[in-house]
Amino acid sequence: MARKSIFSDDFSPTPWWWAGFAPPADPPADLPRHVGTLIVGAGYAGVACALRLAEAGEEVLVLDAAALGFGASTRSGGQVSGGVNVGRSPTRKPLPEARKAALLRDAAAAFTLFEELLSRHQISCGYHRTGRINGIWTPQHVQAWKNRAEDLNRYADSDVRILSRAECRREIGSDFYHGGVSIGRAGHLQPAEYYGGLLAAARRAGARCHGETPVRQVRRADGTYTVETSRGNLTAERIVFATNAYAGTYARGVAPDLRRGVIPVSTHMIATEELPQELARSLLPTDRAISETCRVISHYRLSPDGRRLLFGSRATFFPAGERHTAELLYRGMIARFPQLAGRCITHSWGGQVAMTFDHLPHIGGGEGRFFVTGCNGSGVVMMTYLGHELAKKILADASEPMCAYDDGLPPHHALYDGTPWFMPMVGSWFQFRDRLERREPEKTHA
Ligand SMILES: Cc1cc2nc3c(=O)[nH]c(=O)nc-3n(C[C@H](O)[C@H](O)[C@H](O)COP(=O)(O)OP(=O)(O)OC[C@H]3O[C@@H](n4cnc5c(N)ncnc54)[C@H](O)[C@@H]3O)c2cc1C
Repeated sequence: MARKSIFSDDFSPTPWWWAGFAPPADPPADLPRHVGTLIVGAGYAGVACALRLAEAGEEVLVLDAAALGFGASTRSGGQVSGGVNVGRSPTRKPLPEARKAALLRDAAAAFTLFEELLSRHQISCGYHRTGRINGIWTPQHVQAWKNRAEDLNRYADSDVRILSRAECRREIGSDFYHGGVSIGRAGHLQPAEYYGGLLAAARRAGARCHGETPVRQVRRADGTYTVETSRGNLTAERIVFATNAYAGTYARGVAPDLRRGVIPVSTHMIATEELPQELARSLLPTDRAISETCRVISHYRLSPDGRRLLFGSRATFFPAGERHTAELLYRGMIARFPQLAGRCITHSWGGQVAMTFDHLPHIGGGEGRFFVTGCNGSGVVMMTYLGHELAKKILADASEPMCAYDDGLPPHHALYDGTPWFMPMVGSWFQFRDRLERREPEKTHA
């Protein structure tokens, strides 16, 4: 007998979120010949920057190469927190205490700003402040997370505590984990609706935002920027690059310093069909967002209406279509929730996140040219905040750092020109190490 397909009859290779807000097919509008500030890239970072500038009365134009929001910002898992992932990496050395404290304090401020923006602009986006659980991958991870919990509680007020295996089982309907890390100051939302709300707020404040307009080249002469776009040239007093992982996608030469500082990494998600209510609730009875303590994490949560599971991970580090990544993610989902075997996938999609060599996001610039980049996989809150902080820097005309992430370009590497040739090897190596640790937990622990 033929195996039942995991795909529903109405399967779509697009984000499930787009049922709530889809990148709009705006009719092409005439571009102005001159603007105060041109922002390249209309994700959370670009739009948040535009919102703050426009509120201060600045003349702002935001251009995106694709439809507005078509980058990562309408594709994410929608998990939000105040710094849980800051500086996390499988390889990095510990940060000096003062630097760590400053980064975490500002990450906590990012979460405060995010909640303020939701309320100030009345953005309705299925936000549930239900907390997050990081499932503990192997018992060896407990001590590291106890240390991290101390930092997060001390500097970011994150309300973190370690859960025993039994406590974790009450939060996640799965025997997959060796316990959990509970993070109180966290939650989840509908990321595309959040984007739509932010975009509407920026437009109400007076920012002009247009999609389908790649910026191809930028030159500076006599203190002004001449900008070449697919729909004609314009001049700008200031230019802000908010291109994150897509810095080299549409125009390799437009900002080579940014392209060389970020490693674009594809990451993927699936949505299940609507599940019976009892089953859906039994998976995540407290409606928390879930992540993990390993190197290549899986993350998941219920949809805002509580009817579907939305499951994500870096399914593969090789190029792959949405059906193939869905099959890989499905396996990961069933490993955690065998009770979902036989349930169909209705949506599968991917997007790109920007990793940096120091695992931190960055803002900076001067003399009329600024940037915000390097989300490192977590940008719903952080890239909103950094766009906003960059706008404050521009308005204040400040050469002093505005926040702990205002420290110049992300570091470059002599062997990297913006083409992530090493990612299949490095990513697969991390996946292999994760599997090995799971298979032999006691032995590696001894
Ligand atoms: C599958 C997936 C799951 C994720 N899950 C989470 C999560 O649960 N929680 C979380 O916090 N984060 C998550 N993220 C990350 C989060 O989505 C990103 O960090 C965030 O959206 C980045 O916002 P941004 O504005 O910096 O970049 P983007 O939204 O990617 O915007 C950059 C824009 O720049 C434009 N651009 C580039 N070059 C040009 C050019 N030359 N001219 C004009 N425009 C240009 C691109 O078209 C793009 O739209 C996830 C991401 C993905 C893909």
